[in-house]
Parts: sequence; C-alpha cells; structure tokens
Amino acid sequence: MSDCIFCKIIDGEIPGRKIYEDEDVFAFLDISQVTKGHTLVISKEHVRNIFDYSDELAATVFSKIPKIARAVKTFDPEVKGLNLLMNNEPIASQSVFHGHVHLLPRYSEHNDGFGLKWEEHSSDYSDQELDDIQQAVIKALDN
Ligand code: AMP
Ligand code: ZN
Repeated sequence: MSDCIFCKIIDGEIPGRKIYEDEDVFAFLDISQVTKGHTLVISKEHVRNIFDYSDELAATVFSKIPKIARAVKTFDPEVKGLNLLMNNEPIASQSVFHGHVHLLPRYSEHNDGFGLKWEEHSSDYSDQELDDIQQAVIKALDN
C-alpha cells in the first residue's frame, strides 16, 4: 500500500532496522524501543489488523514469532521475559494500520518501560451474566 510506512520499510523506501525477513514475514526494531529490543513482526502483505488476517496469513505470521521471540529473549542476558501485544483499531491503541505484533522484552518487575493497566472486574458480574457472556461469544463464533 503506497502510503503505508510499514510497507515502505519492507520495500526499503524508508529506513528500518530489519531483524528478520522471509517470503511472507518481516520483523524490525520498533523506533520507540519501549523496552530495549522492542521488535515488530508484520506480514509483507498489507492488512489492517487481526480482523483482516486470513487463517493462512495468521498461521504464516504467528508461526515465525517463537523463533523471533527467542532471539529477542536471548540477545541480552538481562532479558527475563517478553510480552506479545497486538493493538487492533484505534480504541485498542493501534496507530499504524498495517497489522503488527509487538515483542516487548522485559527486564525487571518495575520501571523497565512497559506496563499494562490491568484492572480486576470479577466482582462486577453474576454467574448468570458470565454464562450469558460465554454463550454470546460462542454464538458469535458460529456466525
Ligand atoms: P501501534 O500503536 O500498536 O499501532 O504501534 C505502532 C508502532 O509503530 C509504535 O510503537 C511506533 O513506535 C512504531 N513505529 C512508527 N513508525 C515507525 C518507524 N518508521 N520505524 C519503526 N517503528 C515505527
Ligand atoms: Zn502496509
């Protein structure tokens, strides 16, 4: 796609710090380096986000992630773990509309640059409401 910055990085039209490339998949350092080694994995095919992935494209892209994740885990002995994150649509903080998976190496429990605000809401729902949610999602899956 001509006005997509990630397509331009794949094509070499704008610079990017490539980590991995094959026929279908491309990985490069995220310019923001939220944590040291922060990497993005993308399909070469321009797709907006997870909602536009075919099963085949998902299999292709996600099957490469463990290998790349191991590299992002082991490049620095201080890396203790890694978060995978994919933001899909603006409400979920997507800002570049060429689907990408963030690999965020984690160094310490505190102040290593990345934190999710994760609120507990288990007491907001009755058992019946949770059953209803379960059934609604299952129904949506069938559609
Ligand atoms: P998201 O908010 O999930 O859409 O993430 C987009 C990511 O793309 C951000 O983490 C940016 O730092 C990153 N980004 C934007 N432009 C570039 C670029 N030219 N090279 C590398 N990463 C970029
Ligand atoms: Zn693109």
